[in-house]
Parts: sequence; structure tokens; C-alpha cells
Amino acid sequence: MTGTAAPSLPSRMRAAVWRGPGRPLTVEELPTPRVEEPGDVVIRVRAAMFGAALVRAVTVGHPRLSPPAVLGTLVVGDVVETGAAVQHLKPGQRVTLDPHPPCGHCDNCRDGLQALCSTKISISPGAHAEYVRIRPPVATHARPVPPGVSAGEALLTEIVACVLDATHTAGIGPGQDVLVIGCGPVGLIQVQLARLRGAQRVFCSVNHPGRRHLVHQAGGIPVAAEDLSAEHMAVLTAGRGPHVVVEAVGSAATYASAFEVVRDGGTVVGFGGCPSGTTIPLDLNAVHYRRIRFVGSYHYAPGVFEEAARLLETGQIDLKSLLTHRIPLDRIADAVATARRPDCLVPVVEP
Ligand SMILES: [Zn+2]
Repeated sequence: MTGTAAPSLPSRMRAAVWRGPGRPLTVEELPTPRVEEPGDVVIRVRAAMFGAALVRAVTVGHPRLSPPAVLGTLVVGDVVETGAAVQHLKPGQRVTLDPHPPCGHCDNCRDGLQALCSTKISISPGAHAEYVRIRPPVATHARPVPPGVSAGEALLTEIVACVLDATHTAGIGPGQDVLVIGCGPVGLIQVQLARLRGAQRVFCSVNHPGRRHLVHQAGGIPVAAEDLSAEHMAVLTAGRGPHVVVEAVGSAATYASAFEVVRDGGTVVGFGGCPSGTTIPLDLNAVHYRRIRFVGSYHYAPGVFEEAARLLETGQIDLKSLLTHRIPLDRIADAVATARRPDCLVPVVEP
């Protein structure tokens, strides 16, 4: 069924295997995945994400994962083999993947809610391996990485797309004051995108003093996390409060702060995912009389992944400073500890 293949593909590969919550990831030899169906593509992995969601999955598990498993859904790599029906990719091309493209035919997709596609398409086995096989629609949506964009930067396309979608949802625009709560990779990307959309001042709450310079570098104004009060934010915004507050931490306390500091008629964006069951008391009269808009943001609409890729391609966003740590596959056992270091923003597995 193979269309084109690299003749030298080894029969076995190294992969990081997860054997259950709390157990260390181990490097094991597995059969190299090969093209089986006409739409399949095999990729030599060059960069794979080890973000906060994976740290949670490795340490406490995930309802959709059962060990043993090779984890990792965000991947950039080089095409090494394509099925007979694959026309848009050739061996040797470096590609970035939209890891959860919409199926196009579930109820949510038909309602125009592709971000909430109920077909849980993913890469299986995962990307923490030397090779990965992808199938349609992931293979169909694979996008060549343009020259000048590194594998690590291209790996962040999906995260930029999620943040870009939040920016659209919030209606961030020229002249606005924006507050981003959270100074992780998402927060720092949000600061850049808000500035790109013309926001006048973009404040970003900082709970690691070491990240103040990163907020400045992103074009934002750092605010100490303990200063997130309505009074303090009013002082910084001519007495009004921010037009838009993006919550990108995922805790009850920071969601509550978002409602306190937003200006009358402003928008609170729920970007941060909380532990399940998290609730906050909300003064509904304040929401009503102050006309506060609260919108959730999760994943992205069709076309936004491509829009994010163009931002990278045209150099309108800096992602280099976020790529703080590299993890060779041989050191995968240290990945959780590396990802938890206070100076770690984006840890990239390089098999
Ligand atoms: Zn769908």
C-alpha cells in the first residue's frame, strides 16, 4: 500500500512507554509504525511536546489513557513514508500537525462548533517516539513547516491557535486595556497576540519574579499576582479596570479575581482549565448590573490553526524565548521533573 518510502526505515524504534500513574517513563524498543492504509503517513519525530497536560497524565493518569502507552499528541517531524492516496506530502518534508482536527460530521461539527468535535481523533501511538504514523484527518491537515521556522517553534502552532481563538472570542482590539492572568507559555503568547491586535496596554500577572522580563519582552506590563485587586487594577487603567481579562491559570481564586477587576461592560475569558468540580461564588447582580460578559474558550475554530501557522511564518510572534528545555528521549525519565522546574516554560522532547 506504500506510495513512497525511505528505503532505510529501521524495523524497530525507540519510544517512551508510560506504564501507569506515578511510574517513570521508560525507553523501550517497539516495531516502527509503517503505512498500512492509503491515507497513512509515517513521520520521523523531531520535536514533541511535554506540557502541563502530559505532566498531569503521567503522574495522575487520564480517563482516555490506559497503560502501557506511548504518549504525546503535539509533534513536528519529517515525512518518511506516504500511502498511495497521499498527494499533498512527500518524504523529506517537515510538517506540523493539527492534533485534533474536526471530523466534520458529528452533531457539534454540523452545528459549526468544530472546536468541540465529539470524535476524539488523536495520534496513537503517541509522539514520544522516533516514528509516528498519522491517518486522515490528522494526515490530511498536516502542514509543511516553512523555512526559517524551527521544529520547536512549529510545535507551538497548536497552542498559538488556541490562544488566537481566545483573542477572537474576547474581541480584543485597538486601544483596549487587557489583563492576562498567568505567565506561562499561554499567558506570554496571549500578551503578544493582544498587542498584535492593537491593545493599548496588556498587563500580565506574574507569580515567578524570574518571568517579569519575559512579560516585558512580550510587550506586556507585569503585575505581581498578589496585586490583582480591583483597586490596584483601577489605578493602572485610569480608574476603569481592563476591558478584557483572560484567565489562563485555571484556579477558583484567579477566576474570582477576573470578575472583580474587569471593567463595567467588560469581558472575562475562561481559558484556564480547572480541576474538575471547581466552583466559585459569583455575585450575579454584579454580572447583571455591570453587563459583564463571560465566555469560555477551548480549542479553536476552523481556519485558526492555519492563521496561527501564518503568524509563525511571517515572524509576527516570538516563540524562541519560550523554548527553554530540550529533553532527549534517553532522558525521558527526567521529563516530569524538568517540566516542573520554575524556569521551564516549554519542554520539548527530541527523540
Ligand atoms: Zn466532529
